[in-house]
Amino acid sequence: MALPYSPAQQQQFRLDFAPVVGRYHRRKRRARRFALTSGGLFLVLVFTGSWSAAWFDLLFVLLVPLVQATIVLTIWAIIPPKCPGCAVPLLKFGAYCPECGSAGLTKPGSQWTDEHPAHCAACGKDMLQRPPRPPGARGQSFPSRQYRIRACSSCGLYLTEEGL
Ligand SMILES: [Zn+2]
Ligand SMILES: [Zn+2]
Repeated sequence: MALPYSPAQQQQFRLDFAPVVGRYHRRKRRARRFALTSGGLFLVLVFTGSWSAAWFDLLFVLLVPLVQATIVLTIWAIIPPKCPGCAVPLLKFGAYCPECGSAGLTKPGSQWTDEHPAHCAACGKDMLQRPPRPPGARGQSFPSRQYRIRACSSCGLYLTEEGL
């Protein structure tokens, strides 16, 4: 299937997209640092909070805005940008494989569960939204996209080797 962009246009899109990839990964790292700091402070609160009410209050006052910031930064970090070519969000599944850019991606049963994940016959990848669970494990694992976005699934534009 021919893409609706000339090779020169595709090259330009990739060049323009490189700083976007950098920002995306920096946002993810920052969200992870905030999550680790909040988690650490929470543990300190649990283990030392009973020492004195003032100490508990101080930690709690610090923890609340930190957790709020973590939530905002995490949501911001996990939303990938739009395709510079077709302006469709890169998280949306279309006809192309986000991992390898081949045409012929099968549609998922749902965007958010892994019952019938989108599948690419060319690279063999299932686009899972959660880490695989060991057999017999109960409960749900935390959502965490298990594939890289290298190409736009909607128009097939190949954007980054590194992936989002
Ligand atoms: Zn593929
Ligand atoms: Zn696109």
